[in-house]
Amino acid sequence: MRNRIVMLISAVMLAVTLLAGCGGGAATTGGGAGGSGAKTAANGSAVKIRMLDVGQGDAILVQTPEQTVLIDTGDVDERDKLKAELLKADVKKIDKVILTHPHADHIGGMDVVLKDYEVGAVYDNGMPSTSKLYIGYMKQLKAKKIKHEMLKAGDKLDFGSGVAFEVFYPTEALQKRGQQKGYKHDPNNESVVGRLVYGKFSMLFTGDAEKPVEEEMLQANDPVKSTILKAPHHGSSTSATPAYLKAVWPEAVLISCGVNNDYGHPHTDVLARCRGESTFVDRKTGKTKKTALVKNEKGDVLAAKTYETDKDGTITVTTDGKTYQIETGGKEK
Ligand SMILES: [Zn+2]
Repeated sequence: MRNRIVMLISAVMLAVTLLAGCGGGAATTGGGAGGSGAKTAANGSAVKIRMLDVGQGDAILVQTPEQTVLIDTGDVDERDKLKAELLKADVKKIDKVILTHPHADHIGGMDVVLKDYEVGAVYDNGMPSTSKLYIGYMKQLKAKKIKHEMLKAGDKLDFGSGVAFEVFYPTEALQKRGQQKGYKHDPNNESVVGRLVYGKFSMLFTGDAEKPVEEEMLQANDPVKSTILKAPHHGSSTSATPAYLKAVWPEAVLISCGVNNDYGHPHTDVLARCRGESTFVDRKTGKTKKTALVKNEKGDVLAAKTYETDKDGTITVTTDGKTYQIETGGKEK
């Protein structure tokens, strides 16, 4: 009899312990966030992605509860803007800097970054460059003993707090070709392209990659489908092809470009394709032209919202890995 009571008490205690354990587990994992495994499962904390208003160029700040990451740094003559934006975002230290390719409108702000901030590591596309700016920064990295690594397709960076960055481009084959003497470089089409994944949320970062890279990634079956797309090459019509947009199928497209820039970025046909508008005004002739709508297998038309730093100022995406909000910097439209 006594043994039976002891057994009964033990069973009840075990049940209580198990129930308590289940409750705690469910609360911290934030069930239903999706993702592939614990490393990419959202933990419900806010992650902020800011496309900084730095004129004609790219500088995107990613802040997770654990890390600060800067993808590109804007142009040389926009350094003051970059400095002001980093101050506004309360950046104290930059854990990772990713340089998509060594054009000045992407690496021009490295001077501010290296002078004013403690930098954990710098990543680039692993392609040799004759850019004086690039060579200068690489010397500074060596002198300051900052970790410098090359990114290639298949790599995965950990941004902390369950946020991962999957690299799709450049491929190792391109990097090998790029090392050969006399290889004719095309820096835009050597850009680092990668997808940030946080639970159900994802954002595709494209540097200045154009049609040939988009086609290569589609052929490789890279999982490019993303909640948000950073418009490739500042919204140029040499990128964001209908086939690529169909594969990415973004809900929003973020474009970084300068007010009245010389290139006419973003191009009106790209805006129309993203938004699901069948006509656009040609920027050169002023004439209205037709464009093919981007449709999926079901026949739905892509109708993404578009945001531009030249009109919207800094664009801020806040996500908990399940939902997201987009705020603009309040510039006059
Ligand atoms: Zn650029």
